[in-house]
Amino acid sequence: MTRRVGIVGAGAAGVGAAYALATADADAEVTILEKSGGVGGRAATRRRRGCRYDHGANYVKNADGRTGALIPELGAEGLVDIEDPVWTFDADGEVSEGDEAENAPEKWTWTEGITQLGKRLLDRTDAEVRTRTRVETVAREGEGWTFSCVEGGEFGPFDAILLTPPAPQTAALLDMTHWDDDRLDDVRRAVDSVPYRTIETVVLHYPFREEFPWYGLVNADKDHEIGWLSREECKAGHVPEGESLFVAQMSPEWSAERYAEPVEEVAPAAAGLVAELLGDDRYRAPDWTDDQGWRLALPDEGVDEDAVRSTEDAGLYFAGDWVAGEGRVHRALWNGYDAGERIADGV
Ligand SMILES: Cc1cc2nc3c(=O)[nH]c(=O)nc-3n(C[C@H](O)[C@H](O)[C@H](O)COP(=O)(O)OP(=O)(O)OC[C@H]3O[C@@H](n4cnc5c(N)ncnc54)[C@H](O)[C@@H]3O)c2cc1C
Repeated sequence: MTRRVGIVGAGAAGVGAAYALATADADAEVTILEKSGGVGGRAATRRRRGCRYDHGANYVKNADGRTGALIPELGAEGLVDIEDPVWTFDADGEVSEGDEAENAPEKWTWTEGITQLGKRLLDRTDAEVRTRTRVETVAREGEGWTFSCVEGGEFGPFDAILLTPPAPQTAALLDMTHWDDDRLDDVRRAVDSVPYRTIETVVLHYPFREEFPWYGLVNADKDHEIGWLSREECKAGHVPEGESLFVAQMSPEWSAERYAEPVEEVAPAAAGLVAELLGDDRYRAPDWTDDQGWRLALPDEGVDEDAVRSTEDAGLYFAGDWVAGEGRVHRALWNGYDAGERIADGV
C-alpha cells in the first residue's frame, strides 16, 4: 500500500529524506511543504548584478565517505571544488596559514550555487514540492496527520510526517499541534531547549580583484567581530573576471546586536572591519552590498535524540542539523536521509 509522507522544509534534511525514500524505492507518495520561494534552506544562493553568491552555507565539505560518494554522483557538470585553502586569523587580526589536514578534503559547491544540492537531489525523486507554503498547524486525526498552512491550504492525511525547520520553529509548530498523546509535551520541551546563534552575513562587492593565497579566513579564537571572510571569486561561475565579492559572516555577538539594522548601516561597519583585517583601505568602499540576517543560523547543541525518536512509531519524525548535533550541510543531509530510511522501513 502506498504510504503518504509529508515533509516540512526543503533544506538539506528535508530533501535528504525525500532522496532516501526514492533510493529505497519505497512505495511512498512524498509531499514537501516549504515556506520560502526555493529549495535549499540555509544552503542558499542569491543572484545579483551578474554575480552569484552562497550567502548561507559556503560549501559542502567532503567530510565522510558517504558525502564523498554522493556529491560526484549528482553530476560532474557544474560541480566546483574550491581549491584555495582556508586560513585563520585571531582577535588581533593576525592572519596565519591554515591547517593542512583541515584543508585536505574537497569543499564543494556548484557554478550555479549551493542550492544545486537540493535541486539535484530532488531531481532524483518524484516528490511534490510546494514552495511559498508555510505550515502553521499540525493535527493527528484518526489514522493520519494533516497540515494547515498560513496561505490557507490543507494537506494530508499523511501516514508519516517529518518536521525539519530549525528547532525553535519546530517547537512553535509543536505548540500548534493537535495530538492527544502524552509524548507531545516532552518532545516539545526537548526541541525548545536547543540553543541557537545568530549570524549576520554581509556581502561586499568591489569592481577590482586582488590575488590572495586563501579562499576563506576563519577567526580561530572566536574573539574577532568577523567570524568568517571568503572570496566568492574562488568559485567558478560566481563572480565575473576583474571583480571580487566577499562574504563576511559576523560574530554571533556582533550579529545579535545589529541584527535588526538595515544593510545601509551594517555593510559600512562590516566593510571597515574587513579593510582593517586586510590592511587595505580600498575595502572600506564596496560599490554594492547585500546582507542576510540568519537569526537561527546554527544550533549550539543537539537535541535529546531519545525524545525526538520517541514519537516515530506514531508517524511523527524529526530531522535537521539540530537533531544531528552540528550545523553542517552534510550532517543535516544525512540526518534527513536516515530519517527517510526509517520512514521507508515503516519503523
Ligand atoms: C551563515 C551560515 C554559514 C554556514 N556555513 C556552512 C558551511 O560552510 N558548510 C556547512 O556544511 N554548513 C554551513 N552552515 C550550516 C548549514 O547551512 C546548515 O547546517 C544546514 O543547511 C541545515 O539544513 P536543515 O535542513 O537542517 O535546515 P534548513 O536549511 O534551515 O531547512 C529548513 C527549511 O524549513 C523551512 N521552514 C521553516 N519553517 C517552516 C514552516 N513552518 N513551513 C514550511 N517550511 C518551513 C525553511 O524555510 C527551510 O527551508 C552555515 C549556516 C549559516 C546560517
